Amino acid sequence: MGKGKTLRFQSKRTSHIPPYMFAELNVKKARLKETGMDLIDLGIGEPGFSPPPHIIERLGEEIRKSENSMYPSYIGCREFREAVSRYYKERYDVELDPDTEVIALIGSKEGVANLILSQLDPGDLALVPDPCYPVYRMATLLADGECYSLPLKPENAFLPDYPEIEESVRERARLLVVNYPNNPTTATADRGFYERTVAFAKRHKTIVVHDFAYNEISFNGYEPVSILQVEGAKDVAVELGSLSKTFCIPGWRIGYAVGNRDAIHALKTVKSNTDSGQYSAVQRTAAYALNGPRAFLEENLKIYRKRQQVVVSGLREIGMEVAEPRATFFVWAPLPEEHSNSARFAEKVLEDTGVVVAPGAAFGSCGEGYIRLSLSAPTERLQEAIARMRTSLKR
Ligand SMILES: *Cc1c(COP(=O)(O)O)cnc(C)c1O
Repeated sequence: MGKGKTLRFQSKRTSHIPPYMFAELNVKKARLKETGMDLIDLGIGEPGFSPPPHIIERLGEEIRKSENSMYPSYIGCREFREAVSRYYKERYDVELDPDTEVIALIGSKEGVANLILSQLDPGDLALVPDPCYPVYRMATLLADGECYSLPLKPENAFLPDYPEIEESVRERARLLVVNYPNNPTTATADRGFYERTVAFAKRHKTIVVHDFAYNEISFNGYEPVSILQVEGAKDVAVELGSLSKTFCIPGWRIGYAVGNRDAIHALKTVKSNTDSGQYSAVQRTAAYALNGPRAFLEENLKIYRKRQQVVVSGLREIGMEVAEPRATFFVWAPLPEEHSNSARFAEKVLEDTGVVVAPGAAFGSCGEGYIRLSLSAPTERLQEAIARMRTSLKR
């Protein structure tokens, strides 16, 4: 019995997944914390604020309703899907059918992973930006798909260069991932970019997945564009939204996918057989949040902007040529001249100063030469972080 078979505790598929990108840094972080070092963590991608009180209040009310404790709907409750549809109409003048073109997600991370799984067969090719949010790449590997990197270069304003992609790759590609405002580069895209993206996808019969997690985190009058604002985008595109960053509720796990109904249907097939949806109290509160008061957001953005100025001007004084981001709560900074290895740089900064930054290479090989700093700490802490980095780098 079982001849020639060995007991193993991992599928080949999972064994191909590299260790979590921040694993090593986290070990070092924990060790330094134990020594009593005062860490300033600018490595994480968390919003730097508490959720607005009106949302907490509402969640409290929803929790008390016993009907919210039943199994939720697979595609999300009607109120939530209608709220997303109304939000798109108001924010982007995009019409969405709440029954077929909207699905609730347990956070957009789950959504992007399951969407990729619902679209790719083994050996299928996905075009994935480099650097990027690591989930696109890992989800493709978990679907037994193959990734082709689209380098995001400063000379192209960190946008993928479609004409540069080889013909044979374009012909094979089944799926293209784009993400603007971009994590980690903070780059933004205009309508023209999305028009080119939709045209590329139609020409090469490729699905486009647009990760729109930072759609509300923008500054100085810059308004992020939804890919669905492009005429005919729904023929090829799905857009993923998240309440994590906008409403400072990453722990609540609520987001949505909107757009092409066939792709939404395939995503529903995966999800209805893997999860049973987000807690209805969270969904109903999220519905309220999406169409509710926005004053808190204006306040948060003002504070992010102030923090951004502290970090950008501070890094420039240390000799890092940082551009002023128009969106996201990150700063993407090229390493000072005499450094080239982002992991080593991040490690040195951490050991010398207790400041945690994310090495660019953790987001892909094209992220090498950069670090990502998050604006999730208060201004005084950011000033302190910059001051410590200045001292460390002088040495
Ligand atoms: C934070 C983030 C997400 C995940 O958001 P959740 O809705 O909390 O899962 C997705 N994409 C990018 C680029 C992010 O930075």
